[in-house]
Amino acid sequence: MQILRNEPMKNRTTLRIGGRVRELIIPESEEELMECAGRADLILGRGSNLLVTDGELDICVVSTEMLRDIVFDGDKVTAGAGVTLTELAVRCAEMGLGGLEFAYGIPGSVGGAVFMNAGAYGGEMKDVITSVRAITGGKIVDIPNEECGFSYRASRFQQGGIVASATFKLRRRDKGEIRAKMRELGDKRREKQPLEFPSAGSTFKRPEGYFAAALIEEAGLKGAAVGSAQVSEKHAGFLINRGGATFDDFTALMEKVQREVYSRSGVELEPEVRIIK
Ligand SMILES: Cc1cc2nc3c(=O)[nH]c(=O)nc-3n(C[C@H](O)[C@H](O)[C@H](O)COP(=O)(O)OP(=O)(O)OC[C@H]3O[C@@H](n4cnc5c(N)ncnc54)[C@H](O)[C@@H]3O)c2cc1C
Repeated sequence: MQILRNEPMKNRTTLRIGGRVRELIIPESEEELMECAGRADLILGRGSNLLVTDGELDICVVSTEMLRDIVFDGDKVTAGAGVTLTELAVRCAEMGLGGLEFAYGIPGSVGGAVFMNAGAYGGEMKDVITSVRAITGGKIVDIPNEECGFSYRASRFQQGGIVASATFKLRRRDKGEIRAKMRELGDKRREKQPLEFPSAGSTFKRPEGYFAAALIEEAGLKGAAVGSAQVSEKHAGFLINRGGATFDDFTALMEKVQREVYSRSGVELEPEVRIIK
């Protein structure tokens, strides 16, 4: 397996923020993942939900990027932790298997999506997963959906464990219909989201009964900036990096948004992005 030293995390996160980590290990199989699991301080998927501090980080990161197997079995598919959701949705569409259309365009990996119970447009990982194969307590085990502790943007893996792969149950559907749905959702994303700027998607979770973007907009914060970190003018739920934003810019902007939304509406915004410092 490849081991990189002093690897800059800003090249590995969609926010383009983050200092150098002591080592970054890239296992190429489940066995190699097992071998290096004990050394991992952080598991890295596609870095699309991560805000990493600047400067030197004395940590070992294990990247799942090479765990890319996709195995079909009837209406089930098992995908390695490093497969991207978009690639998986496209491969399933080619096989005439529907159910993952909602995940098309989420720029994360299967592992990161299980960890976050990622979702969009009315679908969530928990609706389509049958089981997750994970390393926990030094062993590899198959964990059925009901034991994954899925809830809104949460799973048991946030308390520990490394996702090696996940099995999804899909349903036969016309390929043209699946593709049309994915195209429609992709267009919606391009129209509504500031995909031209680095971001980690929605910075805050949806507070019960509200929408984070609406609360931020109502607090007059659309376009507000700290350094090069800015509340997107296109979608106030996205905090973006306009180029060269630092970790401190980004966290200061997050705190400003939380403070001003709270003072205007009394709602506490909880970060969805995972902060590593
Ligand atoms: C433009 C844009 C749009 C987005 N749209 C959506 C959306 O519609 N819906 C949505 O839910 N999210 C969305 N996101 C956020 C993000 O894509 C998801 O949270 C995704 O699931 C993160 O996956 P990742 O592989 O990038 O995880 P990373 O950012 O690499 O990691 C996130 C967390 O998961 C952990 N993790 C990653 N892999 C594993 C593993 N194999 N085992 C254990 N832990 C692991 C990491 O340690 C970290 O704590 C968006 C992001 C962007 C940039």
